Amino acid sequence: MNLHKLNLRTGGIIAIVLAVLAGFGITLGYIQIVQGEEYALRGSLSQSTAPIPAARGVILDRNGQPLVTNEPRLSMVFEAPFFPSKGETRNKMLNSLIKLFEEHKIEWIDQLPLAVDANGTASFIEDTKDSERDIKLLKGKDYLNLNEYATAQDCMEQLIAYYGLQEYDVQTARKIASVQFNMFRLQFSGKNPYTFSKEVTDQVKSKVMENSAFYAGIETELVPVRSYVNNRAASHTIGYVGSISPPDYEANKDKGYKLNDEYGAFGIERMAESWLRGTAGTKTVTVNNRGESTTEIEPAEQGDTVVLTVDKDLEALILKAFPKYMKENASQRFTEIPIAGAVVVIDVRNFEILASVSYPDFDLTTYSVDVGALNADESAPLFNRALEGTYEPGSTIKISVALAALQEKIINQSSTVYCGGTYRYGGHTFNCPQVYLHSRVNVNVTRAIVDSCNCFFYDMGRRLGYQQINTYRQAMGLGQKTGVELPEKRGVLDSPSYRTSVNQQWYSGNNILTAIGQGNSFTPIQIAVYAATVANGGDRYQAHYIRSIRKAGTNEIVQNFVPEKIGSTGIDKAHYETVRSAMRDMAYSQRSSTYRHFKDLPVQIGAKTGTSQVYRTVNGKYQKFNNGIFISFAPYDNPEIAVIAVGEGCKAAMPLMPTVRDIYQYYFGSLDQMKKPQQENVLL
Ligand SMILES: [Zn+2]
Repeated sequence: MNLHKLNLRTGGIIAIVLAVLAGFGITLGYIQIVQGEEYALRGSLSQSTAPIPAARGVILDRNGQPLVTNEPRLSMVFEAPFFPSKGETRNKMLNSLIKLFEEHKIEWIDQLPLAVDANGTASFIEDTKDSERDIKLLKGKDYLNLNEYATAQDCMEQLIAYYGLQEYDVQTARKIASVQFNMFRLQFSGKNPYTFSKEVTDQVKSKVMENSAFYAGIETELVPVRSYVNNRAASHTIGYVGSISPPDYEANKDKGYKLNDEYGAFGIERMAESWLRGTAGTKTVTVNNRGESTTEIEPAEQGDTVVLTVDKDLEALILKAFPKYMKENASQRFTEIPIAGAVVVIDVRNFEILASVSYPDFDLTTYSVDVGALNADESAPLFNRALEGTYEPGSTIKISVALAALQEKIINQSSTVYCGGTYRYGGHTFNCPQVYLHSRVNVNVTRAIVDSCNCFFYDMGRRLGYQQINTYRQAMGLGQKTGVELPEKRGVLDSPSYRTSVNQQWYSGNNILTAIGQGNSFTPIQIAVYAATVANGGDRYQAHYIRSIRKAGTNEIVQNFVPEKIGSTGIDKAHYETVRSAMRDMAYSQRSSTYRHFKDLPVQIGAKTGTSQVYRTVNGKYQKFNNGIFISFAPYDNPEIAVIAVGEGCKAAMPLMPTVRDIYQYYFGSLDQMKKPQQENVLL
């Protein structure tokens, strides 16, 4: 590695001692250089090595378009070898620095969990998990050594005594103590420079540099900071990187993480941390016995590039279309429920996720500021509905039951079940929604799917039994984790043993109600895997978001993710033909609401609608609402993608259809563009 040697003049700096902050009772572990002739004769040499942060790897979409990059931002950093150790000098310098920043309205890092009001009364700031941790640290025996019942006022008084801040007004004392506390918390030392601010302007930088004799040990450096190319695409998937949390630090300190490092908090930023992180460089400062210093730099190495399977433009399209059509179809919704739901687009040939949108979403660029409000928001914008929301599938589940019944030879294509609009089972009467259409008709499997006849599927439920039904559902990925790289829920396959596990009863009616979806709940990503398995004729792959890992700035592949086949349903291809053609008939049935939405697409689709009932407390009242669900695939004769959508508070699937149509329009309308070789030279 090429070492750049720099010579820096540091007049008057002569020797090193380990500093003990007399009177404060704290031993600081960092190396301190003290000015003074009396040390000159010792002729000692000091050396300290500090890390240079590496730029994180960039995150690209499937077409090589950047989703997350880095931009250089000017940081102000305290470097221990030259930083004043003496309480008074240090306090003076910090006070002057804080004033300078406040004059220029620039933020500095203020994390002391204490607020002081206009009367000088202190109170704890307890709004985040971090502040809870910091209050504990503040009172702890390694710091202020107060008992756990100590008040904020006790802490403030102790801080003033601890750092000798009596000469300052309490507001100023609090600010100086805040920096000192954070320096302690992050173990400021020769090895651990302290970042005072990440928002420095050139103007402030020159003020500090002009007065560098006073501002000893303060440096500005360009630090790579995350930059979001489109702040509103794939936010849940990309996730966020922030200061390393204590548990993450504990778990990873052996890998060289420092307390002031960053670490992926959630999403791909977290799951791909080991690739994205990069390798920190080092800056070694050596001071000789004449007080001259030499700096050796070993540059940092940027983290690997993560190429995702998602299409940035498709994500952005869905994020716009979904709320727009939900609003436009307000009469088809329970409008007291906020617009929310999920849309997943999956390649049925390899289970790459082309888009997974959870609505409402959030803005990554302002996440760190907004996080409190986002957490408090009742519509739960941080919740990734696509992977962690579970929904009853409604009639979309009937496809799995039809396939099971055909494969088990309970029916063939032409077998019929009599539907009189109602079905008697176990002494109870169950309804078919097609009570007018289906009074006294014989319904075969195709018509049962097209019309969504309940009686037909009640009868399949009775004859198959829940065990057999569940075996097939599992094989199609329902109630199973899909294996994506991000946290996901398992969902529920209803059964007597499941009911026992949640202290509920399994009624005889559940034997047939499970065949129309009731009692089961699945994540949108599972429903997408299910639709893809039906579309491709029974092969289930591991759903995934990461396509490849590449060396930063190159096309060199570190790791490629080839689709991993998890299993096959073992259902005859002919049965898939039967249900897929019924799904096409359903999409283009002139009686259904789907026809007008999909008739003009360049390709034919297959689809199934679903509606499920949910109980939610809205405006203080526990009420019954519906969710709408839509599953589909295209082209009908040679499926490439499946698109599924879930809409909370939709009376039925209708408000979802225009979004699904726009997705197919985008995909098949811009087919030439999709097939173009990846623009991999965009790698940053
Ligand atoms: Zn019927």
